Amino acid sequence: MCATCGCGASETTLTNLQTGERADIGDHAHAHRQADGTWRDHDHGHETIGEGDHRHAHGHDHHHHHGSDDHNHVDRDHQTEHSHPQADPQTTTIDLNARILAKNDRAAERNRAWFMGREVLALNLMSAPGAGKTTLLERTIANLKDRQKLFVLEGDQATDNDGERVKAAGAAAVQINTGAGCHLDAEMVARGVAVLKPDVGSLLFIENVGNLVCPALFSLGEHKRVAILSVTEGDDKPSKYPHMFRAAHLMLLNKIDLLAHVDFDVEHAINNAKRINPAIEVLQVSARTGDGMAAWEDWIARARHEADALA
Ligand code: MG
Repeated sequence: MCATCGCGASETTLTNLQTGERADIGDHAHAHRQADGTWRDHDHGHETIGEGDHRHAHGHDHHHHHGSDDHNHVDRDHQTEHSHPQADPQTTTIDLNARILAKNDRAAERNRAWFMGREVLALNLMSAPGAGKTTLLERTIANLKDRQKLFVLEGDQATDNDGERVKAAGAAAVQINTGAGCHLDAEMVARGVAVLKPDVGSLLFIENVGNLVCPALFSLGEHKRVAILSVTEGDDKPSKYPHMFRAAHLMLLNKIDLLAHVDFDVEHAINNAKRINPAIEVLQVSARTGDGMAAWEDWIARARHEADALA
């Protein structure tokens, strides 16, 4: 469950594409509403999270509206959702968001320790749908598979399509289907890795669900985060989705083979990203033609050395 956007991940399934085995893993932060109107969290022995807590899928972000007229207006719209006048719905919403993210962070720390102990380099690839994450992975896997063992956790709301593609390219893959969920969380990654069993010293790519918003909030315990922006999107995307580009270590500008056909100002896009995140590195690639792939593979090798130096 993403408290910020209200999406649910209660239908999450894992598919081991090596064996075809499928398992429902549910959602560890899943809460549901009781007959008395309170929310209960499965993972905490059915304790009550907060009376008057109003988790609903309307998509508005309570963080930014506390005390504002806007928020009061929104609350009035949903009077029926919190019929406990003694509770402060604004306060309980903050607590719940913080709790979900804090719980995720603890799971992410466990993943980080696990990756470090097994010398697995974990890279979290994030982008909007259609930016070319899977195509980038296919070519990267084809280029690197003779030099190192490659593993992929493939996140999508539905289908095994991308998992099958990266498997065909030469990596062992586990597909995570999040159902209504819009991002991977650290617990899903822990469950996926337990099935995938990446080798000691291997490279693990985590292809997040296509979404520029929520994946930025959920650490997976990865070493590096890569935001992929394709030139068929707007060059103002870094300014519009600052959390994603602030969280990223690297921005990969993809589909540069299409630059002649689209109104995309590369310099403007890079300046936007650097204004949001001065430390962000930028590489330009075409996963389709292979342009720029050598620099990306060098970047992965540098990430490997950095990870090894930390271990
Ligand atoms: Mg994909």
